[in-house]
Amino acid sequence: MKVLLADERGFCFGVERAVDMVEDALGEGETVRTLGPLIHNNEEMGRLEESGVTTISEPVQIKRGETAVIRAHGVTPGVQNDLESRASKVVDATCPFVTRVQKLTARAANEGRNVVIVGNPDHPEMVGVKGYAPDHAFIVNSAEELASLPKLQNPLVVSQTTIKAKTFFDTAEAVKEIAEGDTEVINTICSATRDRQDSARSLSAHVDAFYVIGGEHSSNSRKLLAVCKENCRKSFLIQTEADINAADLEGVETVGVTAGASTPNWLIDNVVAKLESLG
Ligand code: SF4
Repeated sequence: MKVLLADERGFCFGVERAVDMVEDALGEGETVRTLGPLIHNNEEMGRLEESGVTTISEPVQIKRGETAVIRAHGVTPGVQNDLESRASKVVDATCPFVTRVQKLTARAANEGRNVVIVGNPDHPEMVGVKGYAPDHAFIVNSAEELASLPKLQNPLVVSQTTIKAKTFFDTAEAVKEIAEGDTEVINTICSATRDRQDSARSLSAHVDAFYVIGGEHSSNSRKLLAVCKENCRKSFLIQTEADINAADLEGVETVGVTAGASTPNWLIDNVVAKLESLG
């Protein structure tokens, strides 16, 4: 049995960078505490916990002598200041793509303009970005939600890094129609999710079975599974190599493998090794 890997798979740039920063802090002998789970993958979280990393849910839980980690989603300036006043050190692992959205939002607000951020208002990334312009920014999930906003003045339109391009551009067009003054549109969508989907889609057309490695609750992993199923009926979402059912591989000559953006390389290697041993 031949095992083929999708070209784009596993950790995205921002998650890999955050994990590296945590490991560097551990290497310095620091007591490392992350505000919220660093990534949505139980196995990788388990590995980090074994290395001594703990998760806190509020800045108030951090103590002097400890290192606080801001994860890739970022936080509001208020939360960052709170962590800085309590911890001995703050490791800011905000993904640079998210930092860009925060800076653009703050700049527009400083110029007295409104900001429309297209995204999910409950997502931690959006909560953090809104904190850079609490009185000027509005988060909307779709063009329809614009109807509930006050009159927009010279707005800037940006996006959550992981939303669909169509939702962003449709909403931006609708903002142009209702806003007063000039509307500036800056696409801040990160290509990591789309690249993984495109790569899985093209590989799934050439294999007899497909394994997507990722958490059951990871939305990007479930979306990858749906994409693979378009071309390959025998597509499965697994968390580890233990979830592979040998019976599913009967008659299979070529198997594809991909992984969600929170899946570490060591888990991918374990799955490939198990498939090769079965083959
Ligand atoms: S998905 Fe994109 S924006 Fe989000 S952490 Fe990964 S690289 Fe950064």
